[in-house]
Amino acid sequence: MRTDHNPLAAVRNLGILAHVDAGKTTVTERILFATGTTHKRGEVHDGTTVTDFDPQERDRGITIFAAAVSCAWDGHRINLIDTPGHVDFADEVERALRVLDGAVAVFDAVAGVEPQSESVWRQADRHGVPRIAFVNKMDRAGADLDAAVASIRERLHPAPLVVQSPIGSEDTFTGVVDLVRLRALLWADGDAVEEAPVPDGLRDEALARRRALEEAVAELHPGALEEFCETGTLGERTLSSALRDLTRDGDAVVVLCGSAYRNRGVEPLLDAVVAYLPSPLDVPPVRGTHEGEEQERAADPAAPPAALAFKVHATPTGRLTYLRIYSGTIEKGDTLWDASARRTERVGRILRVQADRHAPLDRAVAGDIVAVVGLKSARAGSTLCAPDAPLVLEPPGVPEPVVSVA
Ligand code: GDP
Repeated sequence: MRTDHNPLAAVRNLGILAHVDAGKTTVTERILFATGTTHKRGEVHDGTTVTDFDPQERDRGITIFAAAVSCAWDGHRINLIDTPGHVDFADEVERALRVLDGAVAVFDAVAGVEPQSESVWRQADRHGVPRIAFVNKMDRAGADLDAAVASIRERLHPAPLVVQSPIGSEDTFTGVVDLVRLRALLWADGDAVEEAPVPDGLRDEALARRRALEEAVAELHPGALEEFCETGTLGERTLSSALRDLTRDGDAVVVLCGSAYRNRGVEPLLDAVVAYLPSPLDVPPVRGTHEGEEQERAADPAAPPAALAFKVHATPTGRLTYLRIYSGTIEKGDTLWDASARRTERVGRILRVQADRHAPLDRAVAGDIVAVVGLKSARAGSTLCAPDAPLVLEPPGVPEPVVSVA
């Protein structure tokens, strides 16, 4: 896939949001596997998943401690940010939501929207996080994509735009029709996904669903409406760019389905993440304050650095501070100002955290998520910035309430 010249256009800072048990760990695990980040598929039930924080899993390496893991997909870097699924960790979810640019919300194809999915969804709404929905567990008895989509529409109130039609159900769930490209994606028994023409027996249903998708998109997107009125249809290119606009503006939620456990649906999900969710260049500049004055910082590597620490972990490598860099460039050995603790800090090492290793970096730029060793005072929520251009960051996309006195 072509990416814009600016390498930041190929970065996706992604979170996976879910109700406990919907399959967040399994989806994460399969993403790491599909992207080649791990080479052995872990299973939740046999305790070999690499994303769970559990000292018993030490020999699985680094990701069990990782607040963010970088992986590669189709020429893009996906920084996968851990978001706890349990309501008891609402503060941690809140912090993770501050630093990601887009999310995949995982639902159970039998249960649909559950109470916790609703609360995490509202939090993501408050932070203006664009989302894709993944209806998981399509292999379970009673799995029903249409019913799950109806519960998303009724309880969460987004405009769900279903871009896949399942092939088979429960035990025979063996593929999906990609309604944007009108191609069938079939999973063989192994991990491989094969692309094929839509089987004859499914063609009429696929065309009807494609038509419904075109109508729903035309209703929401003025550019698509124009083409729809002129030609009576929507071409693949207009459809996918309208889906991207609608997702990024938070006007609609693209819905895909699969069975993470059976490793079905994760590759198309990654394609959708890359195609529809925003890069750091597509999101509004972060806002901060200095001495009561509001400032904005764009994702510009040449601007003064500003970063938010969102997680601190003690690990055998040292004290790792995970940073989302919003502007500027941070280099090894730099002195930064911790605007929250009001003291200077020195950047020891900069690391890109991968599943089984820390890749050392000389520098990291705006839009990126990295771990830094050597910071002593920074804690989750601290702003780190240039000593001569200080500011305290506020949650992006969440305006402070304006109190006006008449
Ligand atoms: P989390 O709590 O959201 O992280 O969910 P997990 O990934 O731990 O999954 C919860 C349970 O659902 C585990 O027993 C998984 O094996 C199971 N599970 C996850 N994905 C699927 C799926 O696609 N199909 C089925 N049948 N079970 C799944």
